[in-house]
Amino acid sequence: MKSISTINFNEKRVLVRVDFNVPLDSDGNITDDTRMKACIPTIKAIVENGGRPILMSHLGRPKGERNLDLSLHYLTKHLEDITGLEVVFMEDCIGEDVVAATKSLERGQIMLLENLRFYNEETSGDEEFAKSLALNGDFYVNDAFGTAHRAHASTAIIAKHFEGNKAPGLVMSAEIENVNKVLNDRKSPVTAIVGGAKVSSKIDILSNLIPKLDNLIIGGGMAFTFIKAKGGMIGKSLVENDYLDTAKEILLKAKEYDVNVYLPIDSVNADDFSNEANISISLANEISDDNMGLDAGPKTLLELNDVLVSSKTILWNGPMGVFEFDNFANGTESVGKMIVEATKNGAFSLVGGGDSVAAVKKFKIQDQVSYVSTGGGAMLEYLEGKVLPGIKALQEN
Ligand code: AMP
Repeated sequence: MKSISTINFNEKRVLVRVDFNVPLDSDGNITDDTRMKACIPTIKAIVENGGRPILMSHLGRPKGERNLDLSLHYLTKHLEDITGLEVVFMEDCIGEDVVAATKSLERGQIMLLENLRFYNEETSGDEEFAKSLALNGDFYVNDAFGTAHRAHASTAIIAKHFEGNKAPGLVMSAEIENVNKVLNDRKSPVTAIVGGAKVSSKIDILSNLIPKLDNLIIGGGMAFTFIKAKGGMIGKSLVENDYLDTAKEILLKAKEYDVNVYLPIDSVNADDFSNEANISISLANEISDDNMGLDAGPKTLLELNDVLVSSKTILWNGPMGVFEFDNFANGTESVGKMIVEATKNGAFSLVGGGDSVAAVKKFKIQDQVSYVSTGGGAMLEYLEGKVLPGIKALQEN
């Protein structure tokens, strides 16, 4: 794949798929601009290389309706503030007027097109719609890693109209590069920590990762399905009874590949699913009938510390307990700090997918791990070993 830092965009229109799907309050104010800020380096690199960035994105789920509450014009002023460049907003994303305007865009200006999902053709991956969008640019750059697992018109189908003239943006490149450090160029010992609520949503990740690992740490609510499958007593803890056999198969696969599996030794229990519940500690496979395990216990954490300090590559996906409740956040916070220590000692650490990202932000350690992925669903599918349409489209001619 090409890199945007080496392409000469002189006087060219560069159509960039960004992920500006930011949360808005009822007055149209942006409540979290992380996704907008993430794309600034790409926009600046294009401008510095002489290009005219034309940005396209979806916002919310208008489902093919022109719902002006989800108009990208709410983002115009803020985009000017954070880039320091003039933003020209277009009230549509396709059509003759839009194409003409892209051609008269001047140096130092950015164009922002209206919400792609005002057209159903965007999510259905319509060929004609993709062709119309393609008329807006001479080059195509995709910096929306968060939607790379979707074969939408602007994320994948469009790319065929830019043979030799397409590249990933800097966010997309960083995501690919960092996840490849775990999946392909990893240094041993490699440890994955997989936690969270459900085994059912993590089976493919576990299966894809096991052949690449030295250590697999299973934590959070999903650990109890494994503990029950091994004959343990788990009280009222979260369990997926339909997945007991799957859990056994995963443990067998790990054995086959010589992976050390770490399940919780002990557990911090509650008599109710509440921060105010009565707390007790027991072995994780000896939880009484009226209790549920909501966090990793002290013996578990001691063992995990030994595993993590000696790891050279660490992937963290999913919390070790119900970290949203302060009384059951210690396991997740402690594991986060162990990963920080390992990173200081030279390990490469990647935090990816959903709630572990929320956890590192809550415990303010996001800058102390090697990389925090921004692409929830896309990162999960990448870790599952799936080919993401948005990335494949950039690789093909
Ligand atoms: P996931 O989206 O599958 O990664 O799950 C994340 C959720 O799992 C978080 O909201 C946690 O509160 C929840 N969770 C973690 N540990 C437990 C547990 N022991 N019991 C119930 N829920 C848990």
